[in-house]
Amino acid sequence: MELAILGQEEFLCARCARHTRTCCQDSEIYVTPGDVERIRTASGREDFFEFRVPADPIYGLEHDDPLWLECVFREDGTRRVLKQRENGDCHFLGTAGCCLPLETRPLVCRLYPYDYTAAGLLEKLSRGCPIELLPAGKGLIEALAISRADAERWHLQLYTEIRQEKSPVQNL
Ligand code: SF4
Ligand code: SF4
Repeated sequence: MELAILGQEEFLCARCARHTRTCCQDSEIYVTPGDVERIRTASGREDFFEFRVPADPIYGLEHDDPLWLECVFREDGTRRVLKQRENGDCHFLGTAGCCLPLETRPLVCRLYPYDYTAAGLLEKLSRGCPIELLPAGKGLIEALAISRADAERWHLQLYTEIRQEKSPVQNL
């Protein structure tokens, strides 16, 4: 309300958090070897990830992205993901959103809600954001202020880093 009085628009993610469970709650966040190093350096923590079989089968359905399936999943069907609290919240979720600096957040977090394959960003966005809360006349990407140039850079970085999963020296 205060923001409305000042004539400023409340950020969509803040509105989202007041209305529903957000993408930082219940999502199973895959982290690349590079994500682990960046988060480790920024947070000083070592205990923030684990290898798990996806609880939600949707995470194993990237049939249109064989490179993802080949690199991200290990032979036992597990993949490296952020740990969650008992209620499903991400461990890095604070009262004002993500505690990690933008360029330290997992690449899949930074890219969301862009959808993509190894070939690039898709035109259609992922579902999940409450588009019914968008200000009139504003698109989702505009409201979230994620530039296409940043998303393309992060996409390139993501696929560079998932390929490192196949490196013989990769032991994270
Ligand atoms: S990115 Fe979308 S789902 Fe996640 S908090 Fe923001 S509006 Fe909600
Ligand atoms: S790392 Fe940050 S952006 Fe990603 S799910 Fe956790 S709280 Fe959300």
